[in-house]
Amino acid sequence: MRLLILGGTGEARDLAARLLEEGVEVTSSLAGRVARPRLPVGEVRIGGFGGVEGLRGALDHFDAVIDATHPFARGMSANAAAACAQTGHPLLRLERPGWPADPSWAYVDTHDQAATLAAGLGKRPFITVGRQELARFVPALAGHQALARVVDRPDLDLPEAWTLLTSRGPYEIEGELALMREHGTDVLITKDSGGTFTWPKMAAAAELGVSVVVVRRPAGEDGVRTVDDVAEAVSWVRSLG
Ligand code: NAP
Repeated sequence: MRLLILGGTGEARDLAARLLEEGVEVTSSLAGRVARPRLPVGEVRIGGFGGVEGLRGALDHFDAVIDATHPFARGMSANAAAACAQTGHPLLRLERPGWPADPSWAYVDTHDQAATLAAGLGKRPFITVGRQELARFVPALAGHQALARVVDRPDLDLPEAWTLLTSRGPYEIEGELALMREHGTDVLITKDSGGTFTWPKMAAAAELGVSVVVVRRPAGEDGVRTVDDVAEAVSWVRSLG
């Protein structure tokens, strides 16, 4: 069994480790977005495949695919669904659940809506949506004293009023409380990433009475079998024999 894991998440790294222990031949794929990625154990390849066409070619070297990319990496998931449908490779989607909805959070469908809503909710937003989406927040929040936290510096001129913080989770509640207090955060903006790595900011916001704007997940691929935890993904691989 030669398995391709489309990764870039903590679950993908856990899955690679679990499957290697079981003797499965695993290759993890990363997009190459961050300068110093956390590497899974085992074989790793880095960089895009070149769309559906490129991925289809790469699948010659594999028997099955698990798409364990981030809930917001829908382009890769769509390509995986299309390529596997064409080649007949078994495909499983491993997607961590979203955070249980809190009635005090405001949900929006897009990053643009999040920016507009946050602009009216506070003067000192804490933006935690990732480098790729940051540009969407500039028009609405350029005059706000925003704190933007990203893994790598964005290739973008940020408004003078903004403070950029480069760091990578997982985070702890104490650190998140201290950061938000120091910045005077009055509104937190996040994707519904789910998981535990970045949950402490949500707990800190609740403790400090900070407003929270959550960008909903975009819809996933229809017809792709989906599980939400690593153990179920391991069982699926076993079931393939
Ligand atoms: P995306 O928009 O869905 O994908 C855009 C393109 O990037 C894909 O078409 C593919 O290029 C390449 N790509 C994406 N994931 C890849 C992977 N695992 N291996 C090889 N190529 C990949 O993806 P994204 O949102 O930029 O996410 C990129 C990576 O960061 C993913 O691995 C994801 O799990 C991780 N990540 C994303 C987020 C987020 O908020 N989006 C957060 C944390 C981690 P080709 O068409 O050339 O194959």
